Amino acid sequence: MVMTIQQNLTEIKNKIKLGLEEAGSRTGRGQLIAVSKTRSVEEIRTALQTGHRQFGENRVQEAAMKWPDLRSEFPDIDLHLIGPLQSNKAAEAVALFDVIETIDRPKIAAAIAKEMKAQGKELKLFVQVNIGEEPQKAGVAPRDLEAFLKQCQEEFDLTISGLMCIPPVEEEPSPYFVLLKHLAEENKVPLVSMGMSSDFETALQFGADFVRVGTAIFGERQS
Ligand SMILES: *Cc1c(COP(=O)(O)O)cnc(C)c1O
Repeated sequence: MVMTIQQNLTEIKNKIKLGLEEAGSRTGRGQLIAVSKTRSVEEIRTALQTGHRQFGENRVQEAAMKWPDLRSEFPDIDLHLIGPLQSNKAAEAVALFDVIETIDRPKIAAAIAKEMKAQGKELKLFVQVNIGEEPQKAGVAPRDLEAFLKQCQEEFDLTISGLMCIPPVEEEPSPYFVLLKHLAEENKVPLVSMGMSSDFETALQFGADFVRVGTAIFGERQS
């Protein structure tokens, strides 16, 4: 188990390095977020022991149980919230995370802005884009993005650093990655978070700054 997680991390980092070289001028930062949802503290510690520090969780509650102790062991952790956020969890989310990738409506933007002020803590914020316009998926529709970004800045005084997306599962992801990158450039948002275990190399080709990889590092999830 320990060996496997560490080998997987090494292998993926090598693939990222190659992917970035191939992407050439379209290259993004290509940073790896190790997605540790459903994984135990022991599994996560194994990854931390390789020196890896960027992680993603999709539930505030679960992160609250696992990360405070890990953070006291490894103070330079960079933890991303990549799952849906309820406004009643905003205080906890701001306290726990360094980056929130899933800002997708005014109520959440307002709650996060208020909490960052209250806690005197500046998080890095991303807007989630519903890139395939799927009714069941969270995120701002591409056509509403410009207005939402403007509202974040003008009404809530928030700086949005990036855009995040999860393309439709059964489709070829490239056109969605191209679209997200285009939306980021058009709206002068510096970073994009896109690509998961099955398609992170494709995402790198289209300029991903962050790829979010779980299964390919930690193995299949039970739940
Ligand atoms: C679970 C999850 C991932 C990682 O998915 P894998 O297929 O396990 O790599 C990436 N992004 C989000 C938003 C997730 O919820």
